[in-house]
Amino acid sequence: MNDNDPDGGTAVTPSAGPTDAQFRDAAALGTRLFDDLAAMSSNPPGVTRAAFSREEDEAHAIAARTAAAIGMEISHDRAGSLYMTWPGADRSLPAIMTGSHMDSVDHGGNFDGAAGVVLGLAAASALAASGFRPARDLVIMAIRSEELVWFPTPYCGSRMAFGLLPPEDYERLTRSDTGRTLADHMREGGWDPDALIAGARELDPARIAAFLEAHIEQGPVLDNAGEAVGIVTGIRGNRRYRYGTITGAYAHAGGVPREFRHDAVRAGAALVSEVERIWDRYDAAGRDFVATFGEFSTDPAMHAMTKVAGRLTFTLDMRSTDAALLDETDAALRAAVRTIGKRFDVTVDMGPSTAASPALMDPGLMDILVAEAEAAGVPHRRMASGGGHDCATFAGQGIASAMLFLRNQNGSHNPDEGLRMEDFAAAVPVFARTLMRLLA
Ligand SMILES: [Zn+2]
Repeated sequence: MNDNDPDGGTAVTPSAGPTDAQFRDAAALGTRLFDDLAAMSSNPPGVTRAAFSREEDEAHAIAARTAAAIGMEISHDRAGSLYMTWPGADRSLPAIMTGSHMDSVDHGGNFDGAAGVVLGLAAASALAASGFRPARDLVIMAIRSEELVWFPTPYCGSRMAFGLLPPEDYERLTRSDTGRTLADHMREGGWDPDALIAGARELDPARIAAFLEAHIEQGPVLDNAGEAVGIVTGIRGNRRYRYGTITGAYAHAGGVPREFRHDAVRAGAALVSEVERIWDRYDAAGRDFVATFGEFSTDPAMHAMTKVAGRLTFTLDMRSTDAALLDETDAALRAAVRTIGKRFDVTVDMGPSTAASPALMDPGLMDILVAEAEAAGVPHRRMASGGGHDCATFAGQGIASAMLFLRNQNGSHNPDEGLRMEDFAAAVPVFARTLMRLLA
């Protein structure tokens, strides 16, 4: 790092931490990085940085140049992820890692993903400027291919790094816009899918002491509460039904008395009400839960104002940080489905479900982030993450993990993502001082 220390020693130096001016410089560095990223990947409206695209490469190059300028070592893994390493005094100690992804959705915002890398760089630059010397390595990782819109598998880049992507996926998954395989895109970028298919593993959980990911909040909670940052308690797991159907019988809307109807829509409404009732109960008990019937349709070729609907299709996405709660909800729903089927004389088929486990964040790391937010006078709250993040991959490997959310005005995955630079600047000391504690 910048050798401001006149002795130029490599020993761990006690440091009071960066000054306010050093934090302001670091925040200004972040603003410049965001501007460079937006200019390079502009695709009005918004930005586009597809996984394994020229724009994602350029985003990594911008981060790498910045890291090199503050004295960090630059390397890549065979999956194309970038590692920016500030060497610690004892390199045999497990490292502190931070980072996030730098791809975006098509016509997305500039901050989803990139903010995690930029905040890591800003924090490192502030610490370096203060003369702080880490006792162990700090590694900022710019992770490839996180956005599901490009390759339809969660956390592609971080799972590749841990050897968790099934070998067949490299030639099976195709990018949504090009139709070409993941392996093909990787080879084009100069990476080595064949080594990974053969079982190579880039990251060893035993060599990582902690992973911290900063990310914009993807909902309106912090903005509505007037809080600049959130300390994530867990990344919600999910239980999803993609192919729910309710089958009844089409009938005349006037001629058929209630007791002779097999009404798929009223049965569907009863199912929604049941989920509402369950949700009310969880809210009252302070338990984490969200549920969404994202699709809920009668058949436009068959339905009409004057017909009882004979068929309804729906999706149901339920999420919670509590795995037991998802199991409990699933059991309650299955019981409700039987009752609703009988009551409306229809067949309710939830269809197959998929499940993803919640990832709990490390209580000790959460406490440090909260303490540093309080010390810096930054309004904050503890909250669950509704969206999935690479951090879940690290937590799933048994690595102590934590996330810091940054307030964002307009949701994410859209051109209007709104991370205010004053909120970014407020997050810099919180994140930098947390890293400093972990690296001391
Ligand atoms: Zn993201």
